[in-house]
Amino acid sequence: MSDPHKNDRPLAPETLAAQALGWIDEKTKAIVPPLHASSTHVRDEDNQYRSGRGYIRADNPSFDQAEALLTELEGGARSLLFGSGMAAATAVFLALRPGDHIVAPRVMYWSLRNWLANAAREWGLETDFVATDDSAALRSAIRPGRTKLVWIETPANPLWTITDIAATAELAHSAGARLAVDSTAATPVLTRPLALGADLVMHSATKYLNGHSDLAAGTLTAARDDEYWQRLRSVRAQHGALLGSFEAWLLLRGMRTLFVRVRQACASAQVLAERFSAHPRISGVLYPGLPGFPGHEVAARQMTGGFGAMMSVRVKAGEAAAIAAAARVQVWKRATSLGGVESLIEHRASVEGAGTPAPPDLLRLSVGIESADDLYADLDQALRSR
Ligand SMILES: *Cc1c(COP(=O)(O)O)cnc(C)c1O
Repeated sequence: MSDPHKNDRPLAPETLAAQALGWIDEKTKAIVPPLHASSTHVRDEDNQYRSGRGYIRADNPSFDQAEALLTELEGGARSLLFGSGMAAATAVFLALRPGDHIVAPRVMYWSLRNWLANAAREWGLETDFVATDDSAALRSAIRPGRTKLVWIETPANPLWTITDIAATAELAHSAGARLAVDSTAATPVLTRPLALGADLVMHSATKYLNGHSDLAAGTLTAARDDEYWQRLRSVRAQHGALLGSFEAWLLLRGMRTLFVRVRQACASAQVLAERFSAHPRISGVLYPGLPGFPGHEVAARQMTGGFGAMMSVRVKAGEAAAIAAAARVQVWKRATSLGGVESLIEHRASVEGAGTPAPPDLLRLSVGIESADDLYADLDQALRSR
């Protein structure tokens, strides 16, 4: 692989992404990496593995480029690919020890919140859920010496709550805890949590990093290759939480267009958020790019080039009208997930069930790369017809 730092003038992240670090296969001169399907590698005659490759559950050459590119984009030391976002996120907690205390947000990805509140608790991890956008609440939840990890998500599903990464990193570190950030909605295009003081960044690569709704994957990137990072590597290998070779190959292909996809989707999302704010059938738009949004100023500080392409709208006539509007869309697709090139709409309260922070009149929108006018007209007709 060529070294992106060998020139004095560093290459821009969009260049690194488009060329997947400029890697060229030495044997064939191919500009796209081969797909390695082998589950095992031959030992040297003296029984060693000098190639560094042994059995597939520990490592796979098909991961190299996507992990290296992500490490560059996030400005980290090392990255790992996992079989899903949940596999990556749960590894972060499984690498802790029973009795460790965790602080996590009230508003966060629903499945992970459930896992922390139930399965992780049974395994001896204690989690306090707090409003991580409230520094006083955060400060009082962190227990110096006992809290080992502060987990945040920004912008956070499904209200797009913004948490101040730099301020939270300071709070966590002063108590001896690590800060991990679920940066799925922000992507490395808009936010670089490690540069703001975070220790670990997680992505559901099922979403923007891949961008084409055709695989499940997760990633972790660490600021340092330390003992904790080695524990994370072990969790992946021992639990078999690894990605398939073909998925890793597809993911790298998706990451090459990350910057154009995210920028286009963000630009449309900003336009749609402003237009829906003035819509007679909508009572409120939750989007960090709107000046009246509670986290707007922090978002403007820690996000560059856009405020993301996720938003939620609240339908004035209530829950039944929101579900009915979602039933009438044609261009938007009624489906869970986010971050693909096609726009998705979903009534979150019925997905998340009891205890959801999503009000019943809320529709979550994942803005894709279609024409913003088509997207506006489609939801507009769905809201107006009855
Ligand atoms: C989808 C998602 C996850 C979980 O990722 P999977 O790839 O579905 O396992 C975690 N966090 C956020 C913010 C997500 O959107």
